[in-house]
Amino acid sequence: MHSGGEECLPHKVTLGDFLKLCRRPGFEPGKTAFLMFTAHGPCRFGQYAPYLRQQLHEMGYGDVMVVSPTSRNGYDGIGENALELTRSMWLAVVAGDIALRFLLKTRPYETNRGDADAAFEQAVADFGEVLARPGLKPRHRLRQLVQRVEQMRDRFRSIPARYTRGRPLIGLVGEIFCRLNTFSNDDVARKIENHGGECWISDIAEWVWYVNWSQEDTTIRERGRLNTDLLKLKLKTHVQHRYEQALLAPVLDDLQGYEEPHDIREVLTACEPYLPPEGSLGEMVLSVGKAIYLHRKGADGIIDISPFTCMNGIICEAVYPAVSAAHDDLPIRICYFDGINTNLDRDLEIFLELARAYQRRKPHARKYPYYFD
Ligand code: SF4
Repeated sequence: MHSGGEECLPHKVTLGDFLKLCRRPGFEPGKTAFLMFTAHGPCRFGQYAPYLRQQLHEMGYGDVMVVSPTSRNGYDGIGENALELTRSMWLAVVAGDIALRFLLKTRPYETNRGDADAAFEQAVADFGEVLARPGLKPRHRLRQLVQRVEQMRDRFRSIPARYTRGRPLIGLVGEIFCRLNTFSNDDVARKIENHGGECWISDIAEWVWYVNWSQEDTTIRERGRLNTDLLKLKLKTHVQHRYEQALLAPVLDDLQGYEEPHDIREVLTACEPYLPPEGSLGEMVLSVGKAIYLHRKGADGIIDISPFTCMNGIICEAVYPAVSAAHDDLPIRICYFDGINTNLDRDLEIFLELARAYQRRKPHARKYPYYFD
């Protein structure tokens, strides 16, 4: 009714979520703001925010504010007037990524079904409470969030689990929304676990590091290395790294073997022979580069999760055969999602068999954390 049916799946899902909120009893358009990021370039994502505004206007909700930071300037648009908001958003991204990594590394091994999900939900609620508290000084907010991360770590550590080696490790890459939204991807990670696998999903921070790199690359190309914007950008990246390190410090032992790249250039360099990052813009370079990174970390297979007709997914699908051939025939497949149930279980079952066969001959051993047998 509000979309033509040919839009990307993330557009339909996010639009539906916003409209659902509008229909809640007591909804006040004048006191509501929706956050919808945007990007430039050929990807249809750039149309999401204008389309949302148009739909809201046509439905009589024109008073709703649509806040729309852009990746063109590294999302600095909201930073000028709301430094605190951007700082909190970054902390939320990093803390959320850590919680998801704990969920995925614990859930396949828990002996009481549901324990890991409950610990994850609790962590999200705890982080949200600290992040939403008004008037906290930045260093106090960071300190309290670190404490919540420690509590989350201890809660996950206390979950009864049998950490035995041998589950195929499946890397999940692909379009950021579909990859991370369990409703859109049919909870594919849980299905993989039910088929005997374990998942390593590319996190959200990866996109932020990529946007920083992209902005830096453009600034250097257009204005050289001596300008204040480049300096500001480097400073921002430095501060983001410091915050990330503070939140990661209490969980480094638990995440042994699950380390994300120290520098996004590691991913981009890996992707270079297939899709040069200076020319191929967007998530495609992250998906391909991360698949190669995970191959080195001992992954047994890669699944690219993409919305049906996603431009990034289609390009990745074209280069994956070459990537696989150059990397010991690592099993790589793409799964498209369009909101219509397909036989995902059957496809995953076959893929897990391929991953198990690869596991027996793979050249890069997986490094396990200390708590594995
Ligand atoms: S990344 Fe893919 S799914 Fe997302 S807006 Fe672009 S084309 Fe659509």
